[in-house]
Amino acid sequence: MNYIVLDLEWNQASYEGSSKKKKILSYEIIEIGAVKLNERYQKISEFQCFIKPVVHKKLQAHVRELLAYDEKKLAEGLTFSKAIDTFFEWCGENYVFCTWGTEDLTQLQRNLEYHKLKTLDFPLYYYDIQGIFAHNYHKQDVLALYKAVEELELPQDYEYHMALNDARYTAMIMGKMNLSKKNFLSYTSLDYYKIPSNSKEEISLLHLEGTEYITREFQTKKEAASDRKVRKIQCFLCQQMPNKRLRWFQSSPTVYYALAQCKTHGMLLGKLKLKSRENGGYFVVRTVTLAEDEVVNRVLQRYQELKEKSESKQDTGTM
Ligand SMILES: [Zn+2]
Repeated sequence: MNYIVLDLEWNQASYEGSSKKKKILSYEIIEIGAVKLNERYQKISEFQCFIKPVVHKKLQAHVRELLAYDEKKLAEGLTFSKAIDTFFEWCGENYVFCTWGTEDLTQLQRNLEYHKLKTLDFPLYYYDIQGIFAHNYHKQDVLALYKAVEELELPQDYEYHMALNDARYTAMIMGKMNLSKKNFLSYTSLDYYKIPSNSKEEISLLHLEGTEYITREFQTKKEAASDRKVRKIQCFLCQQMPNKRLRWFQSSPTVYYALAQCKTHGMLLGKLKLKSRENGGYFVVRTVTLAEDEVVNRVLQRYQELKEKSESKQDTGTM
């Protein structure tokens, strides 16, 4: 299996123009860059092409500032459909995508759909190198690509914000981290452009540090957060049902937390993240991870804060 390290550049709808066409495709892909790596993170080949825009022909000011090229260059580009054909042919048969962040594959599929081309099959698994970098170096926040490159003291020979160059940097970061295959594969992500269409299709991913569960779509947030399967917490190390320590409570409009204790493995933190769909519905990403004291205390503190607030308002945030 190869890794296809993909980076896309896109132009954005300008806010003045609000034709229907522009609303349908807010981000139009104008460049594809990719590096093919083998399983030992060694480069096999590279891909780059510009795409002639048909929706947002004028680059938005801030996009133009970032990019190392302009409309003139893009006018010489391939049509989207030709670019896609060439790209997927280059990808070959047995590969998995790696991207810096979580956006590229979703935008790729929006563009595919706009051009009435076949979108990628569900479930689309990939590796978010930005997230993996953060996990690997114990960072709370994800970093911009150039920051990660600086931190790893990699040579900065290429100009940023060109798709191929950004893909090269991402590939270099993968090489430098040089995670064991088992470790790397434990960071599988699901692209959320397509989500499970029913409860049977719901997906459970096992990571090194916990589990991630991705649900089907619900009509309302309330329905999503009160679903029995969504609220289930199980220890991901021994599959036992832990003792509930703190029932699910709503910490923000889209986030819920709960604490539970496994007799063998200690405290577990449950987190529900409610994510909205374009059509107005919601799906849930539930994670269960081991929780260190500091995390447990932070969650308890948040619960107390909200409880005191709601007691003074006579409105409860607990479900
Ligand atoms: Zn356990």
